[in-house]
Amino acid sequence: MVIHPKIRGFICTNAHPVGCAENVRQQIEYIKSQPKIDGPKRVLVIGASTGYGLASRISAAYGSGAKTLGVCFEKEPTERKTGTAGWYNTAAFHAQAKKDGLYYHSINGDAFSDEIKADTIQRIKDDLGQVDLVVYSLASPKRKDPVTGNVYSSTLKPIGDTYTTKTYDTDKDKVHDITLEPATEDDIAQTIKVMGGEDWERWIEQLHNAGVLADGCQTTAYTYIGKKLTWPIYGHATIGRAKEDLDRAATALRTSYQDINLKAYVSSLKALVTQASSAIPVMPLYISLIYGVMKEEGTHEGCIEQIYRLFTEGLYHDNPQLDEAHRLRMDGFETNEQTQAKIEALWDQVTQENFHELADYEGYHQEFLRLFGFGIEGVDYDADVEPQVAW
Ligand code: NAD
Repeated sequence: MVIHPKIRGFICTNAHPVGCAENVRQQIEYIKSQPKIDGPKRVLVIGASTGYGLASRISAAYGSGAKTLGVCFEKEPTERKTGTAGWYNTAAFHAQAKKDGLYYHSINGDAFSDEIKADTIQRIKDDLGQVDLVVYSLASPKRKDPVTGNVYSSTLKPIGDTYTTKTYDTDKDKVHDITLEPATEDDIAQTIKVMGGEDWERWIEQLHNAGVLADGCQTTAYTYIGKKLTWPIYGHATIGRAKEDLDRAATALRTSYQDINLKAYVSSLKALVTQASSAIPVMPLYISLIYGVMKEEGTHEGCIEQIYRLFTEGLYHDNPQLDEAHRLRMDGFETNEQTQAKIEALWDQVTQENFHELADYEGYHQEFLRLFGFGIEGVDYDADVEPQVAW
């Protein structure tokens, strides 16, 4: 099959197996090129196939030689349809880990369900005994509550008033105004159900009850805090409320599992192009602007660089810096006042006419394509490739 990108709105509906493998290889090479991490040895990553979760898996495996167990929700390829990028990334990670003599196993299914939690626990018992790091990196539009069977949907809406702002339509390459209607109380409650801390706590509770969390185990969930420009649609919006619930959950986890000295952190990461962030109105425009500014400042980082720093400066640092809410902050290069002032100035000026000049459109677009294994140097996109890649 010859595979070219099929883009629909903010998503690409296919993926390139060779390109995805190259993406994974480059992340592994980055970690290998860095000083070793005195870090975890047995790691569970929930949401391990793309974005920040994949980078966490690679950092643990290649930075500190960890055995990694990943959970994800990806579509297997068929004869006629490619698999999802996360499928190919996982296949590529497995192939590379096998070659390098590293333990790997991945479980594909709904991480919100108790069945997948039970399968994961069994696998830890069989293969690892216990784990010493649990990374919670899910981004999902829906969650089925395992107790009630109710399905909740997360929304990306402002809270309070209608909000009109600029956005960038990646599909049509257009900067335009959008008006977002405010969330109802039900929207807020449902978003907290999906993206808040309840499922993270449920995972830790079940892992702990099964005795598979090692003494001194660490766990982290990822958040985005951002600043003034993104607060109306993120920090102070429905998703921000869900992220505040992660802070509540982290405190509860630290209190409840003192018997094993569990260290639970919310880690705040920078805004990056991932499948999750592409879906958020405003974010593609904001990200294209920060890419330009941060590249100029020499502080641009991708998922792998952020997570390597999270491990070395945060989770596995003897004396990690915490903010007032006990969070690890890896977002300082983005959220500092000077950088934000430059972005705000650009934000005020940006229009359809000057967008390509003021923003790093190329950088954004290239990274978007890369998520799905496209636009990567050295990959022959006219070649016939086998879409059916097994794990
Ligand atoms: P992503 O879309 O790249 O990855 C999501 C992962 O979750 C994938 O591995 C996917 O398979 C898995 N997943 C989704 N639903 C699942 C389910 N029901 N069961 C099992 N696995 C499931 O997203 P990302 O951007 O890497 O986001 C990960 C976390 O990082 C999120 O909490 C997000 O809010 C946070 N974060 C993202 C950014 C950003 O700019 N992208 C910034 C800061 C924090």
